[in-house]
Amino acid sequence: MADCLGFCRGVEHALALFQSAAAASPEPLYVLYELVHNRAVSEQMRRQGAVFVSSLDQVPAGSRLLIGAHGLPLALHEQARQKGLRVIDATCQLVKKLHALAASVPPEATLLLLGKAGHPEAIGILGHSGSPNTCLIQSLEELEALPPLRQPVLLTQTTVNHNEVQAVREAFCRRFPDGRCPVSICAASRQRQEAVEKLARRTELVLVIGSSHSSNARRLCECALQAGTPAVLIENADSIPEAVQAVRRLGLSAGASTPEYLIAHTVERLLAMGFTLQKDSLPPDNHGQ
Ligand code: SF4
Repeated sequence: MADCLGFCRGVEHALALFQSAAAASPEPLYVLYELVHNRAVSEQMRRQGAVFVSSLDQVPAGSRLLIGAHGLPLALHEQARQKGLRVIDATCQLVKKLHALAASVPPEATLLLLGKAGHPEAIGILGHSGSPNTCLIQSLEELEALPPLRQPVLLTQTTVNHNEVQAVREAFCRRFPDGRCPVSICAASRQRQEAVEKLARRTELVLVIGSSHSSNARRLCECALQAGTPAVLIENADSIPEAVQAVRRLGLSAGASTPEYLIAHTVERLLAMGFTLQKDSLPPDNHGQ
């Protein structure tokens, strides 16, 4: 088991805000998109009165609106204000820092964001830009293909693969010597990625518990694979693949939005299958490097 896995502080904070809002009143609590990207968490929230919507047009004027950990663009904050919505803002503090960095980009400069197209966090960050010149890039190749830019500022979505961030930052500094690239991947994402890489180097297969639309859980699979070990994303203990039967050393990790009980159920199931549990606390070895 990875030495760092499961809920990060941002997710814990968002869920704590939801629990206190749900306890404070029985009236519906509207959530635009999702609070965090995990199906089990959203299902539990639905049972406690959360109403998930895909547009603010679906939220009656004056209702309560919970903003998820990924944050929202400024235009949606403004729309919520105009509708008189009572906003409970669970945007992660680290995402808010990115919003502030984006807002500080001067109008004549260009904001580049390394992230995933369509991800709410990426949309939210671009939606706080102080410059009308914004560009989302999803890979090193897309950065290399950019035309010359004036005063570019590079930000990265918090859950991007830390190896990719490093490569893109280096290429950015080479291509745009007058550009700025403040570090913006969050420590929680980086620690989970480094932990799964360490684990992958001494196991034959890695299971990552998380939902398929969770960016950070998918990055953990990617990091395991880059460290040389196949990885499978599983929703919960019921989706443990048969392939584990043929494995002697299995790695286990979980995304930052995966609840503890899903991790515990998966461990229980693996113990019942004959595995023994070892928490990974050894220093990283050099196998495969
Ligand atoms: S992964 Fe990082 S940025 Fe995202 S909610 Fe957790 S602490 Fe915040």
